Amino acid sequence: MLNQIDINTIQNLIYIIASVMFIYGIKMLGKEATAVKGNFISALAMFLAVGITVVGVINPLIILGGIALGAIVGSVIAIKVKMTSIPEMVALFNGFGGLATFFIAWSEHNSGIENILQNSLVILTLAIGGITFTGSLIAFGKLSERLKIDKASIITKTFTTIFYAAILYLLASLLVFPLIDISFDYFTILIILVLLAGIGFVLPIGGGDMPVVISLLNSFSGIAAAFAGLLLFNNVLIVAGSLVGASGLILTIIMAKAMNRSISNILFVGYASASKSSSSKEQGEVKPISVADAYLILENASSVLVVPGYGMAVAQAQHTVRELGELLEENGTEVKYGIHPVAGRMPGHMNVLLAEANVPYDVLVEPDDVNPMMDTVDVALVIGANDVVNPSATEEPGSPIYGMPIIEVNNAKTVFVLKRSMSSGFAGVQNPLFFKENTRMLFGDAKESISGLVSEFKD
Ligand code: NDP
Repeated sequence: MLNQIDINTIQNLIYIIASVMFIYGIKMLGKEATAVKGNFISALAMFLAVGITVVGVINPLIILGGIALGAIVGSVIAIKVKMTSIPEMVALFNGFGGLATFFIAWSEHNSGIENILQNSLVILTLAIGGITFTGSLIAFGKLSERLKIDKASIITKTFTTIFYAAILYLLASLLVFPLIDISFDYFTILIILVLLAGIGFVLPIGGGDMPVVISLLNSFSGIAAAFAGLLLFNNVLIVAGSLVGASGLILTIIMAKAMNRSISNILFVGYASASKSSSSKEQGEVKPISVADAYLILENASSVLVVPGYGMAVAQAQHTVRELGELLEENGTEVKYGIHPVAGRMPGHMNVLLAEANVPYDVLVEPDDVNPMMDTVDVALVIGANDVVNPSATEEPGSPIYGMPIIEVNNAKTVFVLKRSMSSGFAGVQNPLFFKENTRMLFGDAKESISGLVSEFKD
């Protein structure tokens, strides 16, 4: 039988293997071609890490039961979820990650605190885990539009005040309370305050900004896990938590940058107030086009750039778009897909949809690659994209989206914009592209319009 030292050595070895697999898996997630394999390797690493932790535990059945229950619930949710609801699911997963670390910190506190360092780790783990839990629940509610509370309402203002009070209390818990002999139970107050603080943190942020907030909360859940790892002297938890914390933060920064906004603007100001300066001047007349006329132009195009956006996800038009792309190629047209980093409502949204429809990776191009050669594109086919092709971002210094990098379809020879109406996109600003001389509006649901074009090509 293995003695305790042997078990610890084996556990640590497996932890190192799992940590390497996490790093390798995350690296593979960076490319569409290797992402599925990377996800599998990371999941396997988690299974190994949790599995080896069970060895040597007094009652492994409880832990194995937990793994089985979590696996069943997680699988059912992941199988059933719609692609457009993935950010909501991620919000819930982050929240439960935060809750797990919150409980770890609580139980460590109850086991007895031995020194100031341990006390600080317990407080930080509890605070970040607690804020991540309730904050993620609010983010889930907002994103799924189950929770609609005005930013200016008294409820929001009260919770925001509690949030700032909790931050002050947290600082006092870290800096002052451990050093003085305090007669009240500061830890119980801390538990209540951090849970309320998560609500106060997310409640004032606009529903549309939730994907960025969820990415930040994802980072928080990783940081809380890394602190919990320090508390429990568990190396794999430290590595996995740090990876999630760092990658979530990088993603948050990338998303904020691609929207040309600072993280503080997203968290504490929001688009609503930024858009007040939006120009609403008269832009001219739009020129609608029919499917039949659009087909005639596409049939003669030698290069087409497809620019998908949130509307393609809503219409679930990706398979029909791929079919149209193939028909164009059969007709001798060069077809590329211009992918903006914040098109849609989650990072990589368009890549995922196009991969689902089996569009080859090598025809996807980024704005920096396609913009310099935009004047050689015969037709830019804008499918349910709006903000990511809005020329105000480059032409109108007063616009709230000024400075945001866009796909400059306005420089293509002809632009077809497929959308249902003249309504604005996520940023709530008017789009001068729709009124440009070389733009034609193909009104209607994106899937129906593309299906119409496909039928024209087949007839
Ligand atoms: P937008 O939100 O700017 O515009 C989407 C357009 O799709 C709308 O104008 C809408 O017009 C149209 N649409 C909706 N449903 C359909 C349909 N069934 N058929 C055809 N058109 C449809 O999308 P973009 O992708 O251009 O930009 C994304 C925005 O989201 C950016 O502002 C970005 O900053 C923001 N964002 C992105 C995140 C990400 O991670 N990707 C995260 C957070 C925010 P109509 O109603 O007239 O049809």
